[in-house]
Amino acid sequence: MSIPPANPLTPHPPAWLAEGAPHLWLPYTQMQTTPMALPVVKTDGARLTLADGRELVDGISSWWTAAHGYNHPHIRTAVTAQLEKMPHVMLGGLAHEPACRLATRLSEKLPGDLGHVFFSESGSVSVEIAMKIAVQYWINKGVRGRTRFVSFKGGYHGDTLATMSVCDPDEGMHTLFKGAIAEQFICELPTDAEKEAALDAFLAAHAHEVAAVVTEPLVQGAGGMRFHDAATLKVLRALCDKHDMLLILDEIFTGFGRTGSMFACEQAGIVPDIVTLSKALTGGTMALAATIARAPIFEAFLGDDAGRALMHGPTYTGNPLACAAANASLDLFEREPRLEQVAAISAQLSRELEPARDIPGVKDVRVKGAIGAIELERMGDLNLMKRRFVEEGVWIRPFGNIVYTTPPLVTGEEDLARLTSAMLKITAETTAA
Ligand SMILES: *Cc1c(COP(=O)(O)O)cnc(C)c1O
Repeated sequence: MSIPPANPLTPHPPAWLAEGAPHLWLPYTQMQTTPMALPVVKTDGARLTLADGRELVDGISSWWTAAHGYNHPHIRTAVTAQLEKMPHVMLGGLAHEPACRLATRLSEKLPGDLGHVFFSESGSVSVEIAMKIAVQYWINKGVRGRTRFVSFKGGYHGDTLATMSVCDPDEGMHTLFKGAIAEQFICELPTDAEKEAALDAFLAAHAHEVAAVVTEPLVQGAGGMRFHDAATLKVLRALCDKHDMLLILDEIFTGFGRTGSMFACEQAGIVPDIVTLSKALTGGTMALAATIARAPIFEAFLGDDAGRALMHGPTYTGNPLACAAANASLDLFEREPRLEQVAAISAQLSRELEPARDIPGVKDVRVKGAIGAIELERMGDLNLMKRRFVEEGVWIRPFGNIVYTTPPLVTGEEDLARLTSAMLKITAETTAA
């Protein structure tokens, strides 16, 4: 059996890691060459604790989930209380308070008449459900042939086969998986008048076969922390109206304060037809996702005919523990000054990352909400960079040519300064090498 290469950061891994590592197939990992993963034994606030007792300041929030930091007592209490009462029950034919309350609250917080909430357990699945809703919406309306999607370069919507088809062609590995994934239309975001005219013409030509336009609002996360303006979203909404297409906004990354407002679409003052949420939905506690539709979309599924219904039902849909965590997370957004904290983090990130512009080999420095990114001309040795960040006492994971941080929204000034100074230091080391 192959054993992952030793990791100089953890020369004496605990027995459970040494024994388990050869059996554990890790995400996005070349298992032959990537050093053994680090043993983490505890999380608290904005900190991770490794098996040898070292603490790291977390700059990633566990893939953007831990909005309130780890182990927030309010979320823990809510989940524990739910665990004692009812960890899970099927949502088919039965309903429970945590799911009802969460559906109500999400409907109230989202703009417009986004008021029909379908729960699943992962972001990718919630996007697939949105795609399925969009296709069946047209079928239910008696319109045939509208089965394809328009999405954008730099976009990321998940790793399942259908969501891969609407990712950026590189991210979705369209060449490698040719034949296995559907072919969609991957366009340029309408960020200027010329691109807007091009997209307008494209949509006009393909309106008869397109079910919906899909995008991440304001920030394309996994595709490289690329930002676009609220004006671009307004254009997308207007073009979808003009060509009678549904607009799906994937707020899985941008939702829950990350870009400075509760949801990114608020900054453009637009209402998508369908929105997807996950990542920070439970404050980084449990797996939960939601697909939320506007009233006219939901109503297209009503009728006497059972065949008009949405035939989808993840086994763990609306899991009570996960809904309890999400409700507690929403309490915290209501009770604590989270968006003010995001504004403070944003200002500090702008201030402290600005000097990176002077490092030779740095292409761009950008900050939006609690997202700070340094884009390099070309990426250096990723494994070395990851190791150096740990040596500096922080948890930061560069990808592509991007060194970024998305800290918990409660990160204090000192911890944030440790993250930004490590980013400057390792960036300088990398570009000098
Ligand atoms: C992470 C992410 C997804 C996929 O979510 P999973 O829970 O990993 O399936 C989809 N869209 C966006 C914008 C994401 O950031």
